[in-house]
Amino acid sequence: MDKRMLTASAVWPLTVAMAVVLFSVLGAAQPQWTVHDPNRPMPPVVTPGPAGPPVAPPSDAVVLFDGKDLSQWQDAKGQPAQWKVENGYMEVVPKTGGIRTIMPFGDCQLHIEWMAPSPARGAGQDRGNSGVFLMDLYEVQVLDCYGNTTYADGMTAAIYGQYPPLVNACRPPGEWQTYDIVFRRPHFDKDGKVLAPARMTVFHNGVLVHDDDALTGPTAHKARPPYKMHADKLPLSLQDHDHPVRYRNIWLRRLE
Ligand code: MG
Repeated sequence: MDKRMLTASAVWPLTVAMAVVLFSVLGAAQPQWTVHDPNRPMPPVVTPGPAGPPVAPPSDAVVLFDGKDLSQWQDAKGQPAQWKVENGYMEVVPKTGGIRTIMPFGDCQLHIEWMAPSPARGAGQDRGNSGVFLMDLYEVQVLDCYGNTTYADGMTAAIYGQYPPLVNACRPPGEWQTYDIVFRRPHFDKDGKVLAPARMTVFHNGVLVHDDDALTGPTAHKARPPYKMHADKLPLSLQDHDHPVRYRNIWLRRLE
């Protein structure tokens, strides 16, 4: 057999294989899914380690809730927050509205613990729904997706309407869960042009669920609105979605 033919026949399958790998890697990096696309694949389920006691804040943390009172929080109108505080946690009081920190924040490392109501009630988005909004605009979804399904970009730990988590690391309702979030705010020039998008890295119950994702703009329901220029620091807020979700041990470290 001709030596060159042998070489070509050996190299060609390898080239095809490399092209396939490259295409699937690049293709996976930026899927073109529409908002709340029902065909978007659900991430695999991963069982996290067991729930533990509250994670103690480091010395440079701003403690936003230590289980005692809502002195760091207010409602959307600037009035005292009306959520319930008892036994070291706060609990959403449906219809009282979301709450937000009095202090504004930009880049930060946020630790927050939450618990979905037990026994679970409702299905899809109507089950243990709340949300952690960085800068009051960028939501990491809080939802009970332990044996509960919904659209992938709206499930537990999704960057709502944009990115499903890499895995479903939910604990059962009635158990404490953690989010550890590294948030980088968007940057704008003086005319409001986006110089850098907001970015998030998120761990759910210690499991990586977002690896430096670049947000398309503020998170929204059935929409992906573009960025609108805003302040460098805005309050952190928590959503009242009519479900008595609990929170405890909320602290953050400023990264700017
Ligand atoms: Mg929500």
